[in-house]
Amino acid sequence: MERHPVRRARSVRIALAEASGRTLAGPLRALENVPPFARSRVDGYAVILTDVAGASREHPARLRVSGDVPMGAPAPGPIKPGTAVRVPTGGAMPDFADGAVMIEDTVESGGYVDVFDAAEADVNLTETGADLKAGDPLFDAGTVLTPAKIGLLAGAGIAEIDAYARPRVALLLTGDELAAPGAPMRSGEIRDINRYSLAAALAAAGFEPVAYDRVPDELAAYEAAFARAIAECDAVVISGGSSAGERDYTPAVVAAAGSPGVVVHHIKMKPGRPTLLGMIGDKPIVGLPGNPVSAFVMLHVVGFPVLLRMLDRRPDAVPIRAVLSQEIAVTPALEHRIPVRLRFAGGEIIAEPLIGTSAQMRILGFADALITVPLGAGRIPAGAVVDATPMVASGVSP
Ligand code: AMP
Ligand code: MG
Repeated sequence: MERHPVRRARSVRIALAEASGRTLAGPLRALENVPPFARSRVDGYAVILTDVAGASREHPARLRVSGDVPMGAPAPGPIKPGTAVRVPTGGAMPDFADGAVMIEDTVESGGYVDVFDAAEADVNLTETGADLKAGDPLFDAGTVLTPAKIGLLAGAGIAEIDAYARPRVALLLTGDELAAPGAPMRSGEIRDINRYSLAAALAAAGFEPVAYDRVPDELAAYEAAFARAIAECDAVVISGGSSAGERDYTPAVVAAAGSPGVVVHHIKMKPGRPTLLGMIGDKPIVGLPGNPVSAFVMLHVVGFPVLLRMLDRRPDAVPIRAVLSQEIAVTPALEHRIPVRLRFAGGEIIAEPLIGTSAQMRILGFADALITVPLGAGRIPAGAVVDATPMVASGVSP
């Protein structure tokens, strides 16, 4: 898939207040110095350090109080030797004031203040631009804006950003047996899980899932649904119909829809062996098996790496190093992804494997992360240290 060019989402200008979870479409630099002026870090007095050097209880430094710095306003003027200016936390330091003393270390009366301790006066202020200088590089294109990053941008004077538009990802659900939660069910029908789990995962990862009517297991109807989805959206994710059964039309429909068509079909992975990856022009196609565990896991393992290229992103979930609670024994002929529940006990992170079939959504519903059993390994002993990769959670890290 790597050699096939994937369409890049277009760039849109959005207000900072709308930017949480969005992906930057270009690099960002600080617009202003942060802080924009030298600020006191304490409630107290702005001073000249040489005036208060060595001040103590026994030998306080006495200074004339020459004025106040109001919050949100400039200092009244430069400080003069032998004087102090009242300043609140975050207030502007007067020019030539190179120290600030805490009110707790002073006593004021009759227009004079006695300073008893000035040992930390030099660090009780923040210089102009100490946090960021105007023009400092902040983030590159492809960065997902977390709440803390949004705070940093606000502080740096940035009101609007260029973000990638959320790529529209069509979600096609195939299967005559599917009934929506809440709808009456005939014998032989099952609840449609993937419509909900896949849409939620796509939305959390920064895409706009576009839902379509269920696709019947009938070739002409499937072809028509796919044609509409590929015309209306930037990418297509299909649930079900990707294996080799008589009514598994995904490979034929994708192959006939355009070029290059099917790029990968069948991967040596469990769950999700019959997964299909394709391209129609520059639009990626992810054909997932219908089993809900396979569909969800394969969306993460093989779907997101392709889909995220539209946002200039790569999967970047940082694995959590954990101790395996019990042995895993599987066939070495495939690479396996095993859902695990993580818990903290005895100073360690414990990964408890959740074993079941790929139809049992319960095993994913209680899982926090996935671990990998590499092709050819077949076994991981209890007590082994494993890397558990979290599944998409907050919209920032599939
Ligand atoms: P398929 O890949 O179409 O052969 O489907 C494999 C299995 O997954 C079958 O047992 C289907 O009933 C089941 N399945 C397919 N789609 C869904 C869905 N949206 N939700 C829950 N189960 C599904
Ligand atoms: Mg099916």
